[in-house]
Amino acid sequence: MKKQSNKVVIDIKNLKKSFGDLKVLDGITLQLYEKENLVVLGKSGSGKSVLIKCIVGLLKHDKGSITVGKHDLTDIEEEDLIKVRKKTGFLFQGAALYDSMTVRENLTFALSRIKEKFSKEEINDKIVEALENVGLPDAIDKMPSELSGGMKKRIGLARTLVVHPEIILYDEPTTGLDPITSNEISSLINETRSKFNNSSIIITHDINCVKRVADRIVMIKDGKVYKEGSLEEFLNDEDAYIQSFFK
Ligand code: ADP
Ligand code: MG
Repeated sequence: MKKQSNKVVIDIKNLKKSFGDLKVLDGITLQLYEKENLVVLGKSGSGKSVLIKCIVGLLKHDKGSITVGKHDLTDIEEEDLIKVRKKTGFLFQGAALYDSMTVRENLTFALSRIKEKFSKEEINDKIVEALENVGLPDAIDKMPSELSGGMKKRIGLARTLVVHPEIILYDEPTTGLDPITSNEISSLINETRSKFNNSSIIITHDINCVKRVADRIVMIKDGKVYKEGSLEEFLNDEDAYIQSFFK
């Protein structure tokens, strides 16, 4: 395990979230350290997306606390939520670009979310920089329908990078991609960290991706942390449930 720093950037304590009778998160405690790539593993429907939606404030948790930097998201004021949004980039499952907008418009929209005034030139420079970082500067005036699955993921990441987030949350960044493209996206996650010094939570089932990016892994099961450790510790664990992920 390559721990990069002891500074905690996201601190989650005893987090609970239900939808009606469905207990999705049932007391999750975990920390994300500065510059760390933390992989969250869990079977489909185990609450991984719900967890990161709670971290970015798209869903409100029921109990426990989520602290991002110095902001506790429980009862957070709108003004502070904007500060948290500026710190945290979220790459949605499926990249989810707005299909009726060009790449430039998609990235401009992402910039508008942080509610800062930028000149036209500044906006253009930021967009060009973000697209260069994902290796797609020529896609600027394309529509999402003109892009391949891998390119859409890259543009999704550029849209996240345009605000220079300190923390990036990747929701299944390689799911549905062929192995070569999937490996390129895993490399891009690592290159992004080298360039931006960001911390990341990466949700994935893709063991090739886990092997390429993980500094540390947290597995969730039945709404709780089932195991936490390095890739090596997971690979050496004889527990049948854990092994089922690594076959
Ligand atoms: P995954 O680990 O596959 O990302 P999710 O976090 O998307 O799983 O979902 C966990 C559970 O919570 C699922 O049973 C899902 O149906 C349920 N769920 C997620 N979002 C909502 C919602 N907004 N309303 C009701 N149920 C939801
Ligand atoms: Mg999900």
